[in-house]
Amino acid sequence: MAKKEKLAAETGEISIHTENILPIIKKWLYADHEIFLRELVSNGVDAVSKLKHLSSLGEYSGEVKGKVVVSFDKDKKEIRIKDDGIGMTSEEIKKYINQIAFSGAEEFVAKYKKDDANSGIIGHFGLGFYSAFMVSETVEIHTKSYTGTPAAHWVSDGSTKFTIDASDKSDRGTEIILHVDKDNEDFLESYKIKEILNKYCRFLPVEVEFEGEVINETHPAWIKAPSEVKEEEYREFYHKLHGYGPDPLFWIHLNVDYPFRLTGILYFPKIVNEMEINKGQIQLYCQQVYVSNNVNDILPEFLTLLRGVIDSPDIPLNVSRSFLQNDRNVKKISGHITKKIADKLNELHQNDRANYEKYWKDIAPFVKYGMVTDESFLDRVQDAVLLEKPDGGFVSVKEYTEANKETQKGDQDKVVILYTNDKDKQATYLDQVNEKGYQAVVLDHLIDNHFISALERKRTDVKFTRVDANVVDKLINPNALTVEVNKEQASVLEKVFRSIIPNEKVKISVENLTSSDIPAKVIVSEESRRLKEMMKAMTVMQGDKSTDDLFDESTLVVNVNNDLVRKMLILEGTRPELVKELAEQVWDLASMAQAPLNGARMSAFVRRNNKLMSLLS
Ligand code: ADP
Ligand code: MG
Repeated sequence: MAKKEKLAAETGEISIHTENILPIIKKWLYADHEIFLRELVSNGVDAVSKLKHLSSLGEYSGEVKGKVVVSFDKDKKEIRIKDDGIGMTSEEIKKYINQIAFSGAEEFVAKYKKDDANSGIIGHFGLGFYSAFMVSETVEIHTKSYTGTPAAHWVSDGSTKFTIDASDKSDRGTEIILHVDKDNEDFLESYKIKEILNKYCRFLPVEVEFEGEVINETHPAWIKAPSEVKEEEYREFYHKLHGYGPDPLFWIHLNVDYPFRLTGILYFPKIVNEMEINKGQIQLYCQQVYVSNNVNDILPEFLTLLRGVIDSPDIPLNVSRSFLQNDRNVKKISGHITKKIADKLNELHQNDRANYEKYWKDIAPFVKYGMVTDESFLDRVQDAVLLEKPDGGFVSVKEYTEANKETQKGDQDKVVILYTNDKDKQATYLDQVNEKGYQAVVLDHLIDNHFISALERKRTDVKFTRVDANVVDKLINPNALTVEVNKEQASVLEKVFRSIIPNEKVKISVENLTSSDIPAKVIVSEESRRLKEMMKAMTVMQGDKSTDDLFDESTLVVNVNNDLVRKMLILEGTRPELVKELAEQVWDLASMAQAPLNGARMSAFVRRNNKLMSLLS
């Protein structure tokens, strides 16, 4: 057998042949070819910002107008981006342009950052200058440095080869000429360039001109100090971003320097209809350059229902989603915004209650959604949550609990918040609650079930109970004693009602209620109803909601303190058939207070009703 030879250890360097990598980068790095314009215009803006900066330091004494001009020539298949910024020497071209992924902007900031931490230099969006080759056969640069060295001309076809020679450019600055390739001739249209500029460059800090017009606003509201911006300007800016719908309700102006940089304005929109609650209405900027309208990985989901702008150079760009969500700066930023929103809500609640009540219906779904999904937000805003009263007006959770602590004192340790999720359907239950002097509130939004559970989990001092969850006396305290019922009578009534309600899931309970008005009432315990609603939500049941199904697990409470029920007891011995029909009538009426009867049951009810009425004559 041959002796096993052991391989000697070795270390080395993996080599990259750039000429193989470049075409791949060019083709695949950005799905969106249009960003070449963003990159080249921001480089022009940077060139101007740099020169202004040097001028402010006294290192340059010439005039700085500061402008980026974009133009195109469809016949020559050219797009040009020209600036009157800092320019480049031929040495600088070799250093900055010929080295892909070497950021000159970073170097500039590092060199001058002692002088001004907020240099406003955009830089670093990813591939930067090289993105020009995504749409070009060849790219030319004519540039003349502010230092007065001879103007230079650079040409490359995006391979690893380039040439540099003299340029006849006489004015300071840089002009980039793109010779657009066959596949990208779509970009040689006025509307197309306008559209791209309008998307990415609308708020750049240096004037950008296209077809003789300045297309951008260099000082958008969000970069100003909040004290400098008037209410009207905030509204105008909102409409600039989101068109001419209704005014926003209110807004917060973000302005942080440390420990991260963040500016922006977030608006609470007025919701005209629920369909309009669409996401993707917050625009993300980096140093006034538009990045995207996708902030889903940066903000908690509920905040994406807001509108407006956030701008932060500390949000990493062009990185994967999972990375973003775990980024420390992103976490801090999202935490900061959440807190600011909660502060604003509390401030309005305390200092501007009348307006806050006006806004409440519009913002309630948003606030509740936030509370359900973000516990720290729930902690912060729970005192600012309003509950609507059935006849108008609002009460906060805190006010409700404080006002009702006394009236509700019994053996329970929680304040019960009585609510209705359908004022019309539960009208009879609401009336009884009002007669008793209890306060009910309306919670009728889809989110309310979840909101209730979230709040109950958090606050051990409140419990929500729907007005139809029990007989009025026991709504607040289920263990409350009611007047005792004669056992014999109870068993007679139970037997009668059981004979007409064969469904064993409907329990029958004969009670002596303090109120004599109604003969019977269907109740569904809060716990079993919520459990059922949860299951329903999970299985997305479809088809008809027959009343029988709704009344599974419910209880028919028969009231012996009612005249009709007492008559039934008297007649039971002599006219059992009539008593049975009366029982059916009582059962149907009680059911109707919960939900409409299904077809067959409804027609039986009408027939029986007519028959019973004819007995009166
Ligand atoms: P970044 O902007 O992140 O530095 P780029 O690839 O976009 O990366 O640009 C590389 C460098 O080339 C810039 O930092 C700058 O030094 C130089 N440069 C590019 N465009 C211009 C321009 N219009 N004027 C002056 N210098 C420029
Ligand atoms: Mg750049």
